[in-house]
Amino acid sequence: MERVQDMPQKKQKQKRVSINFLFFTIEVLILMLIGFIFFNVDEIKIFKPKEFTECDHVHFASPSISPSSKLNDPNEIHLIHAQKNGLKFPFVTNVEFDSEIDSLKRKSVLLEVTDNKFYQLKSLYNSKPYLIPEAVDMLNEIGYRFQRKLKEKKYNNYRFRITSLLRTEETQNKLSHFNHNATLHSAHLYGTTVDISYKNFINTKKDTIESSYEAVQTLTKVLVEMREECKFLAVRERHQSCFHITVVVCQPIAEKNNHHFYSKVK
Ligand SMILES: [Zn+2]
Repeated sequence: MERVQDMPQKKQKQKRVSINFLFFTIEVLILMLIGFIFFNVDEIKIFKPKEFTECDHVHFASPSISPSSKLNDPNEIHLIHAQKNGLKFPFVTNVEFDSEIDSLKRKSVLLEVTDNKFYQLKSLYNSKPYLIPEAVDMLNEIGYRFQRKLKEKKYNNYRFRITSLLRTEETQNKLSHFNHNATLHSAHLYGTTVDISYKNFINTKKDTIESSYEAVQTLTKVLVEMREECKFLAVRERHQSCFHITVVVCQPIAEKNNHHFYSKVK
């Protein structure tokens, strides 16, 4: 008799247990979804289709360039692209840079480059951490492809180091004085050009700076691949142990609201 009376209670208990289990499963699934979005949000952001990244550089680069698998583009060609798409009038002094940078940042003529999961900036003594937006996109694409290739090969995870970005004429003159390889007229003056070191990389697991044959090979492959797609011009600078890279812009950007394009007409 007791057993028969207990039955409805037991059934109710079983029902409660299965409802609790269902809620638990739903909670776990929601947490997994949140975790997935959280860890992938950067990649989603970076690979959100953009006009710039979708543009066919091989056919619509401005000025046009030919694909190449060699990372040896001469300075004159870097300069042609830098002058066409970057600042029309380089900053003469560091004081001039300091007084104008906030306004150029607000207008998105120049963007600040900061450390992220793809790269780190070395202490910058002779340059300012700014580039035109197209060059920042290019840098992130190099970083993403570098990470992807390292993962494919199951190599250690590395981040590359950026050693130089935008220079003023003042800092460029100083550099040329101390280093005869630093040409006086450099694409670094225009905010289109960046140096990536191949001497050392950040080992993200150990949080150490080290040289790595695998990382150099992987970075070189990525750069050759992107040079073949006409995404930039590049040259290996042996004295500085870096790749000197100038962005190639897919469409003319003369209509940009760029103070340095128009207001300093001489
Ligand atoms: Zn350089």
